[in-house]
Amino acid sequence: MLPIIALVGRPNVGKSTLFNRLTRSRDALVADLPGLTRDRKYGEGRIGDRPYRVIDTGGLSGAEAGIDALMAQQSWQAVEEADAVIFLVEARSGVTPIDQQIAERLRRTHKPVYLAVNKVDGADPDTAVAEFYALGLGQAFPLSAVHGHGVHDLIEPVLEALPEAAEATADKAADDSIRIALVGRPNVGKSTLLNRILGEERVVAFDQPGTTRDSILVPFERDGQAYTLIDTAGVRRRSRIDAAVEKFSVIKALQAMEAAHVVILVLDAHDGITDQDATLAGLAADSGRALVIAVNKWDGLETDARDRIKAEVDRRLPFVSFAEFFYISALHGTNVGHLFEAVQRCYASATAKFSTPELTRMLEAAVYAHQPPLVRGRRIKLRYAHQGGHNPPLIVIHGNQTQAIPDAYKRYLVNYFRTQLQLVGTPIRLEFRTGE
Ligand code: GDP
Ligand code: GDP
Repeated sequence: MLPIIALVGRPNVGKSTLFNRLTRSRDALVADLPGLTRDRKYGEGRIGDRPYRVIDTGGLSGAEAGIDALMAQQSWQAVEEADAVIFLVEARSGVTPIDQQIAERLRRTHKPVYLAVNKVDGADPDTAVAEFYALGLGQAFPLSAVHGHGVHDLIEPVLEALPEAAEATADKAADDSIRIALVGRPNVGKSTLLNRILGEERVVAFDQPGTTRDSILVPFERDGQAYTLIDTAGVRRRSRIDAAVEKFSVIKALQAMEAAHVVILVLDAHDGITDQDATLAGLAADSGRALVIAVNKWDGLETDARDRIKAEVDRRLPFVSFAEFFYISALHGTNVGHLFEAVQRCYASATAKFSTPELTRMLEAAVYAHQPPLVRGRRIKLRYAHQGGHNPPLIVIHGNQTQAIPDAYKRYLVNYFRTQLQLVGTPIRLEFRTGE
């Protein structure tokens, strides 16, 4: 599991600019995610050999009401769940009352807080940061996020102090079981589904206290196949009281997805697709994990509701069109068996291995059926393909002028490989290398 850095500060101080700088390192191309144009607030980055996750908490303006209050609550929850906090203020505006409010609350969290004074630009850094020591957060780091100045000096000490990338989950589950993340917003039926799968007694038997950082691994077996459920999302509750106060935690869902082979995203047939559902689906797509969408509470619904929900999923979640799709009733057990067959198929697809000759033959056939376009009178040449990784399958294509390949052609290739390799439920990533 990656250590988490939360960015906080009032609106316009430069959080998303810094976020973009810190998360720019992702290079594997995701070619089959049309429609994925959400605002990105959760990203991954790496400096040297230190990977991390960054969360832009959105602006805290101090006087939140209504929807803003909800967002502020999510922001503070992200702070609670983070390993380190970067608090951005702005050189030009000086210390504002809202900065003071945020600083005070941050001091009470006992998290390591790094104060970054942004938009220093051409000014003298020492002078620019001087007045911010009044916030009582210790050293103030001068920053110019737009120009990239000071980013390194800020992030080095943050990374130094972070816990060693907690590999615990992956290590502990490093057996031959299929790791599943069961995610969904509150009340869609996650724990009902888990109880259905495990039987009431075993859930209790496996119960053990966990902290926010520790994930809990629930091993179980079904039809001779070993599984491990990664429960960072509080699927297994210790009491009804826990259930009542359960908070929707995007971060925990993210951590579970990251450690999983296959994600089961549970939706509620009665509610349609909510914004939280769409957020989780987007994160699942970003995670690169195989995905099964389970539309729960199917019992008692009209048959034509089925088509309506499928249409809504296609329209609102086009970026997870690769996912396997099921209607289930966790309460009655309807279709839960099929769900697990799908999980096995997805796992097989996500972890499948392909040889270079096999992939190269397919590439040749794909190009033969449909040539890449001409660029400045020259045809793009695609020479051979090899597998660069799995979970999700990464296909590396070698050729020339590959940087000029249009998105439509990339999608064509992804679909071609998907069909020929018979991959289900998993995204496919393509990466292009220009040789010679
Ligand atoms: P957020 O609301 O905190 O996420 O702030 P943004 O990252 O959207 O930045 C707000 C504005 O400040 C944008 O117009 C940025 O281009 C600008 N900005 C960000 N960093 C700097 C900087 O280092 N110097 C200057 N002059 N402008 C910056
Ligand atoms: P979680 O918050 O996602 O873990 O949701 P729960 O498992 O606690 O379920 C929330 C509510 O939905 C409970 O009242 C369940 O009894 C109900 N529920 C769960 N699955 C089904 C289902 O398949 N059909 C119906 N009708 N209700 C369900």
